[in-house]
Amino acid sequence: MKRRHFINAGIKASTIIPAVGASMVIPGNANAEDKEASAGNSMERPTPEQGNIVIEKYTEGKPHAGKVFAAIQPHCDDIAIFAGGTVAKLIAEGYTGYMIRTSNDEATGAGKNVGEQVLNNELSNDATAAALGLRKVYNLGYRNHRMEEYNIQEIKGRLIFLFRLLKVDTVICYDPWSQYEENPDHYVTAKAVEAACWQAGSHDYPEQLEVVKPHSVKEKFYFARGPQIVNRVVDTSRFIDKKVESNVVITSQGPGGHAGSALRKSLAAQGKTLPILGNNDATADFNYVKHLMLDIDSQHLRGVPSDKETGKKYGLEWAEAFHYIGPNTSLLPEYIKKNS
Ligand SMILES: [Zn+2]
Repeated sequence: MKRRHFINAGIKASTIIPAVGASMVIPGNANAEDKEASAGNSMERPTPEQGNIVIEKYTEGKPHAGKVFAAIQPHCDDIAIFAGGTVAKLIAEGYTGYMIRTSNDEATGAGKNVGEQVLNNELSNDATAAALGLRKVYNLGYRNHRMEEYNIQEIKGRLIFLFRLLKVDTVICYDPWSQYEENPDHYVTAKAVEAACWQAGSHDYPEQLEVVKPHSVKEKFYFARGPQIVNRVVDTSRFIDKKVESNVVITSQGPGGHAGSALRKSLAAQGKTLPILGNNDATADFNYVKHLMLDIDSQHLRGVPSDKETGKKYGLEWAEAFHYIGPNTSLLPEYIKKNS
């Protein structure tokens, strides 16, 4: 099954989404029971079982002022490729964002030797974080493509400390429950993040509590390049150029960087031009990411469908899809109010 077929599960093809409000719930395919559920407590916290998809749109007025997110990636290109639009949107809405990169990226990318690869990827990581407006970068430095050899307790301990120190409310990361992910750095990081989110709010790792307080992560935006549950589609139309920039500045690895200017040059050597690449290197790099990497050749270059096609299903120009897990709020106060 193709990954994005999950998206289709809960929406009629003809549904038109009005451009109002920060988010709205598309009721599922669904029988009467599902619809009843969606009218109740699921407006804030839809569950995949109910077949609902929330369309999250940009909201003016900094609704997330005071909140903190961590964008967590094993390699310098993961967040820009899969969630750059959402990261830019959340920052525009008032979040303070931090980047945590778990691997040292030694095994991939431009450089004459391992040392140069590590350095170039670190520079690309700093550049993409700056392009997205993130406040600070933390590099955990685990060996690239070898993250299974580390004790997950150790990785979790460091993440838990950072979540407590930075008071992280929200994480953006690979989906720990997606299927067919082949890169060990991706799934090891995702599993460690998932556990660290709740453990940061517990009394685990008690020695940390002499300098930081328990602080659990309440919201998660998980992306994947294999099949996953999708229950949230973020409208990234206003931030697509920012997402493009965050990929263009990654020049050491990944499908963006200078790929457009390189293609333009190689076509020129064959006496060919591609109008979409424009008349100079900068335009070629930008347009390559926007129109080829994120749209026309997305499945080949990124392993996921086009952001444009994802958006089109919901009446949006550009969009990113996630398995979103929100705050687990109790219904007891409301029950007591009505019944006591
Ligand atoms: Zn990666």
